[in-house]
Amino acid sequence: MIVATTIEDVRREVSAWKREGLTVGLVPTMGYLHEGHASLVDAAVKSCDRVVTSDFVNPTQFAPGEDLETYPRDFEHDCALLEEHGCDLVFYPSVDEMYPDGGGTTDTYVEILNDMPKQLCGKTRPIHFRGVCTVVSKLFNIVMPDKAFFGQKDAQQLAVIRKMARDLSYGIEIVGCPIIREADGLAKSSRNTYLNADERAAALVLSKAVFLGQSMVQDGEKDARKVVKAMTDLINQEPLARIDYVEAVDGVTMKNVEAIAPPTLFAMAVYIGSTRLIDNFAVEA
Ligand code: AMP
Repeated sequence: MIVATTIEDVRREVSAWKREGLTVGLVPTMGYLHEGHASLVDAAVKSCDRVVTSDFVNPTQFAPGEDLETYPRDFEHDCALLEEHGCDLVFYPSVDEMYPDGGGTTDTYVEILNDMPKQLCGKTRPIHFRGVCTVVSKLFNIVMPDKAFFGQKDAQQLAVIRKMARDLSYGIEIVGCPIIREADGLAKSSRNTYLNADERAAALVLSKAVFLGQSMVQDGEKDARKVVKAMTDLINQEPLARIDYVEAVDGVTMKNVEAIAPPTLFAMAVYIGSTRLIDNFAVEA
């Protein structure tokens, strides 16, 4: 596996592949990789000739006071996992390489101007999706992949990226991949490492709420408010949990819905102690 730390190196390697007529898949990540990330790499390896994974904790998607400085990192472990899963190149740039003005800021952002990035996570993280769109846009411009792979775990992010790719005519296929969970149900997340033993146990309330909601929908419930209420009530029984939001939205526009029909998305963010975790399920056609 090639380790590239500069944009120039990535461009040179990818251009050589493209000259050979090979297809390229991109998996954007913030590192501290786990089996959730690995599943995206597996999907990319399956459907592309060459796979690039970016490993970059992107400062522009963190607001002051969020966990930018403490975000977990382990590049050696990331490389081992990526190699094992058949990634061809890991892009591991410095902050200054990605944001040449210095300080991890930029004068030029990519931002969706409708309400979509203001819903759900956007309510507590108002600049988050602007940062995500900006860094993913830059990665698209650097790698120019045929396909890019994102997890359904971050359902709003996936919807935002799909919209951005369409609006800006990127011509890149955006592939959504299912949520990978721990054996007991907790969605895998780099942030799970923040949880102490009591919080880890309490965090199960998110996936329990997902499974409860899913079973209500499977049993024919059509009223989104009833499902949201049942999920909310369940989470509120956990003393260590504090709900940021539990909502039913259209999975494409992120607008709230009352009647359940595909592509309804039930999404939540819940603080377990001081750690904010997210989970969701989509109603399939
Ligand atoms: P992150 O490193 O947290 O920014 O995540 C990078 C990519 O991995 C995003 O597209 C996430 O949605 C995806 N991802 C993170 N956790 C999971 C998971 N448990 N299952 C599937 N995809 C995931």
